[in-house]
Amino acid sequence: MDSAQLYRKIGDFLAEHGLWPTPDNYALIHALFANTASPAAEAVKAATADGLRLSQRDADRIKSEVGIEPSAPPRPGGGVDPAVLAAATQRVEEFVAIVEAQRADAQSYGADLAAGADRLEAAGDPGSIGALVAVTRAMVERTRKAEAQLTAARDETQKLRVKLAEVGEEARSDPLTRLPNRRAFEEQLKVFEDKGTKLSLAICDIDHFKRINDRYGHPVGDRVLRVVADTLRDNCGGHMVARLGGEEFVVLFEGLPPTEGARILDEARELLAARHFKVRETDAPLGKITFSAGIACARRKADQPAIARADALLYEAKNAGRNQVRFEAA
Ligand code: GH3
Ligand code: MG
Ligand code: MG
Repeated sequence: MDSAQLYRKIGDFLAEHGLWPTPDNYALIHALFANTASPAAEAVKAATADGLRLSQRDADRIKSEVGIEPSAPPRPGGGVDPAVLAAATQRVEEFVAIVEAQRADAQSYGADLAAGADRLEAAGDPGSIGALVAVTRAMVERTRKAEAQLTAARDETQKLRVKLAEVGEEARSDPLTRLPNRRAFEEQLKVFEDKGTKLSLAICDIDHFKRINDRYGHPVGDRVLRVVADTLRDNCGGHMVARLGGEEFVVLFEGLPPTEGARILDEARELLAARHFKVRETDAPLGKITFSAGIACARRKADQPAIARADALLYEAKNAGRNQVRFEAA
């Protein structure tokens, strides 16, 4: 196995088992593939026999048994405190504004000085004016340097800004499916509510998902989660699809009544149900993968919030035999 293969294997294993790539998780799985007879490798193999998923808890137990030092705690979504992130972003924005103002000042000051020096020179009187010109030229040079430094600072800050945006993105995304997570969904729903946007809200839940895990193991279950996530994202016309948790997804149909959202979801549901999935390793057919959904109008005045009504409709869809979408009359 060459280094690229080893690296890929470790990464694939971590992703497949839903483990965050912290240094200690990496070290453990590195042992599994690079040092196959080590106690760490043996313990991981024992914990994942029969296709079981290596949970973070198991991984931590094995690490403490074999003496792999824990690094930072596992950090779903980057683990960044949103308040800290917001404050850092705010500071950077302020800094950008200050630097940009200073840079623009330095630039125009430099231009003024240079013009002044030209005028002085043109006016004649070689004696005292010559000295003044020299001082002014020196100032021009200094200002030019300051401008260059400020430009560099601005560019650095720009990079920091992009990094901060990435971290913020990570904190709002589900590492397994790469969909927005519950936090991102809640924030978006609040934005829509504050604006009074017409909206319908759907909850989709994979049917008999526990069976897939039980029969084929967690890693296969995780792959199914990714397939369902992709199907929803690709077929919901750009409306926000987020992972609520477990095998549940939420869709926010902006500007659409529940009937329209239900039509879109029904298409996605049929596409998914028509596909034939197989277990990658054994080629065994997985059977049909289906989901049920409930969809409610988010602006209708009601005793219960839309999410609760969508959940109740989902429950009806399950009771009526699954693989169907129930919607609220608009
Ligand atoms: P129903 O049709 O009534 O929805 O049945 P179900 O089996 O889908 O529902 P249930 O709530 O009984 O089981 C959900 C299962 O989802 C149980 C849990 O182990 C599994 N699960 C939750 N999160 C994950 C995950 O991230 N990966 C995997 N592989 N399984 C998960
Ligand atoms: Mg469920
Ligand atoms: Mg389910």
